[in-house]
Amino acid sequence: MDNTEDFLGSCDPNIPEEGPSAPPPGWLDDIHGYVGHKGGEDENPLYPPPPAYNPQPELNKNTVVPDVRVPTVSEDVARDALLKFVESKWRYSSKPARNLTFKELRPLTVYRYRLETYTETRTSGWQFEAYNGQPVDGPQYGISPPPWDIPLTLPQRYTNKVEKVRVPHSSFVKVCHKCNGFGRTRCIACHGRGQKRCSSCHGSGFRRKPGNHKRSSGKTRCSFCHGRGHKRCISCQGHGHKTCTVCHGCQNLLHFIQLTVTWKNNIADFIPDRQPDFPDKKFEQVTGDPFFIDENLLVYPLHGFPDQEICNISAKLINEHLNSFSSTSRILQQRQTIEMVPLTHAYYTYNGKDYSFFVYGLENKVFTAKYPSACSIL
Ligand SMILES: [Zn+2]
Ligand SMILES: [Zn+2]
Ligand SMILES: [Zn+2]
Repeated sequence: MDNTEDFLGSCDPNIPEEGPSAPPPGWLDDIHGYVGHKGGEDENPLYPPPPAYNPQPELNKNTVVPDVRVPTVSEDVARDALLKFVESKWRYSSKPARNLTFKELRPLTVYRYRLETYTETRTSGWQFEAYNGQPVDGPQYGISPPPWDIPLTLPQRYTNKVEKVRVPHSSFVKVCHKCNGFGRTRCIACHGRGQKRCSSCHGSGFRRKPGNHKRSSGKTRCSFCHGRGHKRCISCQGHGHKTCTVCHGCQNLLHFIQLTVTWKNNIADFIPDRQPDFPDKKFEQVTGDPFFIDENLLVYPLHGFPDQEICNISAKLINEHLNSFSSTSRILQQRQTIEMVPLTHAYYTYNGKDYSFFVYGLENKVFTAKYPSACSIL
């Protein structure tokens, strides 16, 4: 048994080697209205909605905003907010907050403009599943409806959702491209032999006895393969083949076009940067009072609002959203909101020194760059 290669035997020629895990280009049929599925780069083509599906903006249309008043906080509210803030910081003493003297509470006007555009996008791609005799809705039952003619129930407005549906009449059955319809593929690990040469004795069945280098008879039977020189292939359990990982042994696959519908609320926020001492990022954590909400299929730039920067940004963002979404998606609804975000700059003295802090948001959060430490008032 010197020639272990002989013993390892040859593979079953009937069982094919593994084919590609994805259907090769040209493998699948064409489905009317669903082009670009030939494999390769354009795997999931996006279908822009037909022009009639998207609203067309009216020219020179504007939206008028009512007047607003700037909210203020009282000294009690400012002090309570600071106390709550100080108590959440273990390094800070609440004593200054309790005993400080307010000099001025200066309310600042902060508007947050928000534009939301709720869109629907449709893309498609080939999918397959193992075929077990399930019904096949193929082209013989009719022409597949175009991507935008497949009816779907709209989710709740402004909620993000993805839905996948099977395109009607796009299904057909083909032999599995990986196993060529055998349901099994040749084991790669052992090349279909079911056995692998023992790596410990390199197939000889013997190993040199440790410490017996100088003696010619210093050989011992390989304990890993019990002297056989080969071992059963772990990968295929000695069968030489494995169940096909694509069809799971079913031999055939059911192919169909899957439509992926994505609903997304695209949000753009803007707050004019006018408070050099207050980090604008802080505004993201709080809510304001949405005193103006304008909701329609399409909204129009704000006009006549006292803050011209807000008017300008509304025109800019509305234009940007329209340009970036109407060519790829269907615009289902738009909403523009102006929020008054409370912001008060509170100036106070403590122990003869001047300090200040900010109270912001409807939540009355506090931001302070400097706070009198308890240690300084020994
Ligand atoms: Zn061995
Ligand atoms: Zn194997
Ligand atoms: Zn297969």
